[in-house]
Amino acid sequence: MIDPSFFDEGALVAVLTTQPLDRALDYKAPEGGCHLGAFVEVPLGPRKVLGVVWGPGKGDYDYAKVRSVLRVLDVAPMRSEMRRFLEKAAAYTLTPMPAMLRLATRAPGLGDPPSMRKVYRRGPDEPDRMTDARRRVLEFLAEYGDLSFTLKELAGLSGVTSSVIKGLVKQGAVAEEDSPRDLPFAPLDPNLPGKELTEDQDRAATHVAEAVRAGTYGTTLLRGVTGSGKTEVYLEAVAACLSAGRQALVLLPEIALTAEFLKRVEVRFGARPAEWHSGATMTERRRIWRMIGQGQAQLVIGARSALFLPYQNLGLIVVDEEHDTSYKQEDGVLYNARDMAVLRASLLGAQVVLSSATPSLESWANAESGKYTRLDLEARFGPAVLPTMKTIDMRAETLPSDRWVSDTLKRAVDQRLEAGEQAMLFLNRRGYAPITLCRACGHQVGCDQCDARMVEHRFLKRLMCHQCGETKPMPAVCPSCGAEDRMAPVGPGVERLGEEAVKLFPDARVAVLSSDMYGSARALKAEIEGIAAGGADVVIGTQLVAKGHNFPNLTLVGVIDADLGLQGSDLRAAERTFQLMRQVAGRAGRAEKPGTAMLQTFQPEHPVIRAILAGDEEGFWRAEAAEREAAGVPPYGRMAGIILSGPDAAQVFDAANALARNAVPLARVGAQVFGPAPAPIARIRGRHRVRLLVKAGKGVALQSAIAQWVSQLRLKGDMRLAVDIDPQSFY
Ligand code: ADP
Ligand code: ZN
Repeated sequence: MIDPSFFDEGALVAVLTTQPLDRALDYKAPEGGCHLGAFVEVPLGPRKVLGVVWGPGKGDYDYAKVRSVLRVLDVAPMRSEMRRFLEKAAAYTLTPMPAMLRLATRAPGLGDPPSMRKVYRRGPDEPDRMTDARRRVLEFLAEYGDLSFTLKELAGLSGVTSSVIKGLVKQGAVAEEDSPRDLPFAPLDPNLPGKELTEDQDRAATHVAEAVRAGTYGTTLLRGVTGSGKTEVYLEAVAACLSAGRQALVLLPEIALTAEFLKRVEVRFGARPAEWHSGATMTERRRIWRMIGQGQAQLVIGARSALFLPYQNLGLIVVDEEHDTSYKQEDGVLYNARDMAVLRASLLGAQVVLSSATPSLESWANAESGKYTRLDLEARFGPAVLPTMKTIDMRAETLPSDRWVSDTLKRAVDQRLEAGEQAMLFLNRRGYAPITLCRACGHQVGCDQCDARMVEHRFLKRLMCHQCGETKPMPAVCPSCGAEDRMAPVGPGVERLGEEAVKLFPDARVAVLSSDMYGSARALKAEIEGIAAGGADVVIGTQLVAKGHNFPNLTLVGVIDADLGLQGSDLRAAERTFQLMRQVAGRAGRAEKPGTAMLQTFQPEHPVIRAILAGDEEGFWRAEAAEREAAGVPPYGRMAGIILSGPDAAQVFDAANALARNAVPLARVGAQVFGPAPAPIARIRGRHRVRLLVKAGKGVALQSAIAQWVSQLRLKGDMRLAVDIDPQSFY
């Protein structure tokens, strides 16, 4: 019988590579043959590139000229489920397959033999002369039987210097061996006791654990206020998944979340899970990638790209803070990790748990329509109660133009400080000041490459463009009129707010938390832990602090500018503001002490501000849903953003106009085109950007229509076209 999943030597195979080609290429299977899904190295022109055996070859090319696969890499073949997932994800996001494959192989040196390191164990011989130090080493090794240790471990654990061990190696009393670096992960124990759950939590946990045990696809929206124990609940689902012998993935929005979180997971399961994020070293990435493929990593805690790892037997995907905007990849492949998690799970027969205190409207609507199961945790765990919400009407406060903390807020902070508690001032703006202005001529310093203002970062002593990352020194004279010493900062960023706080609260320890102020994610984590342990009295932070951290002694959150997110024309402005304000407020009063959140606003009667204050979530969602439904926008209609960009503005506009005029493939499915218009940020990195918006009814097969439509356009020169299905932000 012929095994359809194996190709004998010389058989034609179609290989998908990570190179930007529009199809898989035919190669001959190498000596020894190869499996369907095998990771291979193939010749492409003068180069060797990575690829995957995607199926039988097409055979539309002279067999004699077809080249052979160079070698099969020593990693588990890509499973058919993963291949289907990549194909479906590509079709959904209109992404070329090679780009999808690149996402799925983000671990360098996959094909390299594993790197080795020296390890030490008991050798066959006795030393010629016994010393105290030598005896300690040998006794330690005797105690651990056949285990081996690195030099550092062995020296540290037996309390000797490494030269003592080297001496023993020479004598044959200790054996030195090479061992692969890519070690399996320590096994996790799902049977360790979890916390004793409340009735509410237990009901939710039982539900998700049973769903996992059933081994079928399903999505659960787990909604509960911050601190209600959602994490405890989904860890029970993870336990059920591990007990069933399947792998689990927990996606987190920000790497800053993980310090505290990993500790919790380690306590719950007795060992550290695999950690997948951009800060992981290359070696660690490769280790995780391989171990997951071999089933030797049971649990991955990761950022969104962990979704594309080669799980052998994935049974559960948790998307924590599912509403978070960082799940939407905004560069390279445009995908939403939450939606892709649901897709992947549905192909696998796995469960998805979407956890949030403030779900996205999409998930809320999916639960309403019965597509998702919805579980609610109503109360905060233990004595903690939800913070009291208040507004501060900034029209009634008289503040000089270089101050942002109102007297009312200042008094509230003073009270907390007297009580020995922490207060937080929240402002979602990095840097010192958003605008640098010449007081002589009114000129504002902009980025040379982008249509954006340069933001002063006093800490870095530079001006920075938040679009492209370009920096330049603060000009001493105005670049426009040449006036000296007239450049002035306008408006607050967190650094400036920090300055104000030091003046207002001279006896308090003030800490500013902003992602750009710490050299590394590790340093930032350390700072957050220090603050949680009481290392600061007044904490000033950006969005970063709104996410998941526990500050037990924090009882007041002051939002400096609650109106900030309501400006602009973004479809999700109201939703975002509502979520962010509730998340920030949720930082207050996490432990025994009740908390208060105060929102400084110039429009206290704005419906969104009122909904935040009233805490009427269902009411807010219903109103928001009705508005979107009436406008026919997501999740009640479909949308896609098309961005054309290039160095020449006129050329980009001409191309966009041509596209808009030839929209027959869209008209056929009843979709409409709006634009072209300059994108909200009309220039980034020197490229002019023009936007078209496509709107269609809910049931429309939008992707194929768009693919057909844009394929009519021949892109000239350096022009590029990007399609964003279900755009999250409009920039
Ligand atoms: P959420 O994920 O909803 O924000 P967490 O799961 O982080 O909530 O719970 C908030 C805090 O309360 C955590 O410190 C957690 O350990 C604690 N907690 C929640 N439920 C329990 C429980 N049943 N027993 C003991 N501690 C709990
Ligand atoms: Zn720029």
